[in-house]
Amino acid sequence: MSEKSVTALSEDFSAWYNEVVVRAELVERGPVRGTMVIRPYGYRIWETIQADLDARIKAAGHGNVAFPSLIPQSYFQREAEHVEGFSPELAVVTHAGGKKLEEPLAVRPTSETVFGEYMARWIDSHRDLPLLLNQWANVVRWEMRPRLFLRTTEFLWQEGHTAHIDEADAMRETMWALDTYATVARDIAAMPVVPGEKTPGERFAGAVRTYTVEGMMRDGRALQAGTSHYLGTNFARAFEIQYQDEGGALQLAHTTSWGMSTRMIGGVIMTHGDDKGLVLPPRLAPYQVVIVPIGRNEAAERTTAAARALADELKAAGVRVHVDDNRPQLSPGFKFNDWEMRGVPVRLEIGPRDLEAEVVTLARRLPVDGVAGKEQIPLKRVAELLPGILDDFQAFLLRRAETFRDEHTADVDSWDAFTEQVAGGWARAFHCGRTECEDEIKNETAATPRCIPAEAPEESGQCVRCSQPSVYGRRVIFSRAY
Ligand code: AMP
Repeated sequence: MSEKSVTALSEDFSAWYNEVVVRAELVERGPVRGTMVIRPYGYRIWETIQADLDARIKAAGHGNVAFPSLIPQSYFQREAEHVEGFSPELAVVTHAGGKKLEEPLAVRPTSETVFGEYMARWIDSHRDLPLLLNQWANVVRWEMRPRLFLRTTEFLWQEGHTAHIDEADAMRETMWALDTYATVARDIAAMPVVPGEKTPGERFAGAVRTYTVEGMMRDGRALQAGTSHYLGTNFARAFEIQYQDEGGALQLAHTTSWGMSTRMIGGVIMTHGDDKGLVLPPRLAPYQVVIVPIGRNEAAERTTAAARALADELKAAGVRVHVDDNRPQLSPGFKFNDWEMRGVPVRLEIGPRDLEAEVVTLARRLPVDGVAGKEQIPLKRVAELLPGILDDFQAFLLRRAETFRDEHTADVDSWDAFTEQVAGGWARAFHCGRTECEDEIKNETAATPRCIPAEAPEESGQCVRCSQPSVYGRRVIFSRAY
C-alpha cells in the first residue's frame, strides 16, 4: 500500500481500472499470461453473486453437478459451428504421465459437448424432460486481449445446461435464465442492464438464438454481463440427445445453455467507480461498513473498545462490518482514503469527543441524491438506522447508473451522428442485418451490435451504415465494448 492516490477515472479510464483492482486488493495477475489470482476481498464479491444466483437456479428446479475439466478434443468436432468458434480459444493437453496422449484433451472452454454426451445417456423418455442442470466451474479460453476480471484466460462461472421436449419449453428456459441475469445484475450489483437478442453475427458458436444482458460502463462502453442460448437441436443431433414421445416415436431434445462469470466483478467496478476508486453496492460489498476508531494511547483504547462493541451489535443486525483497529501507525485521514478507494459504502468514525457525546460520525462513500455524505448519529441508534441507510445507498447507485446510461444513449439516423455517439456511449440505430455491414461498422468505429433490445418501440427505417431497409423491427444498440 502506498500514499500515492489512484489515477483519476476521468483522466484515463483504462489505467484507473487496472490500478484500482489491484490496489483495492481484489485481484492480481497470475503467473501465466491472462490469468488472475482472486484475493479474499474480490472473492467475497464473487461469493455473494454466486450465493444469490445459485439460490435462484435451485429454486427454479435445477440440480448442480460437477463434470471434469478435461474433455476429449474429438467432442468439439461433432458440432461444426461450435468447433469453428471455439478452436482458436482451446487450450489442449497433449502430454500426460510423461507420454504423448493418444487423444488430445481440451481444457473446457464451455461444456455443451460433455453435457450433451451424458444427457444422451440420462434421457430416454419424454418423462425424463426437462433435464435441468447447472455447474459452478472454472473454464479456460485462450483470450488474445486479456483484462483482469473482464476477459481472463481462466475464469469462474456457472454454466446452465438443460434439455427440453420442444422449442417452446426450451425458449421459456432461455428467457428465464436471461431474466434471472437481469434481476441479479439489477438487484444485487445495481447494474441497470438491457436485455435483448444478439444479432446473428454475434451469436454463440452452435446456438440458434443468443440473448444477452448488456451493461453500460462509466466510459460509455458496453459490457456483456451474461448470456443465454437456445441451441435448438444442434447439440442434440451431434450427441444423440433423444427421447421417446408419448406415441413412442424418437425425437430430438431441444437444449439451452447460459452463463454468468467473474466478469461481473469487473462490471460492478466499471459501473459505479469514480476518481477516488471503487464504489461497491452494499448488497455486494465484502464490508458494508468500516468503523475507524480515532485517538492515541489511552483514547485509542476507549474508542477501539467502543468500535468493537458497535461492530458486534451491527453483526447481530446482519450488517457486514470491519473494524480498522490493527494499523495504529497510519493516520485517520489515510485510513479514510484507503476505505474510500476500496469502495466501502459507509464509514463510521469514533473519536474521543464523539464518544463523550455518545455519537458517531457517519460518512457515505458518495452523497446520496446530492445530500452531503457526512452526518452525526447517536451511537445508540446506529444499528437501527444502518440497514435503511445501506438500502438507500444501494437504490441510489442503481438510479445513478440508470441516469448515466440514459444520458449516454441516443437514437441516431446518420452515419456522422453514429460515429460521434459511439465515441462515448450507445447508439440506437436501424440496421440492415447483414454481417458484412456489421463488420464494416466495427472496422471503422470499433462499435459492434450489442443487442436488439427486448423492450423497444417497433420501428423501421434505413440502415445507418448502408441505407438498405432495416430488419429486426426495432433499433439495435451499437457500442464499443469490453
Ligand atoms: P458464453 O459461453 O461465450 O456465452 O459466455 C458466457 C458468459 O461468460 C459471457 O456472457 C461473459 O459474461 C462471460 N465470459 C465469456 N468469456 C469470458 C472471459 N474470457 N472472461 C470472463 N468472462 C467471460
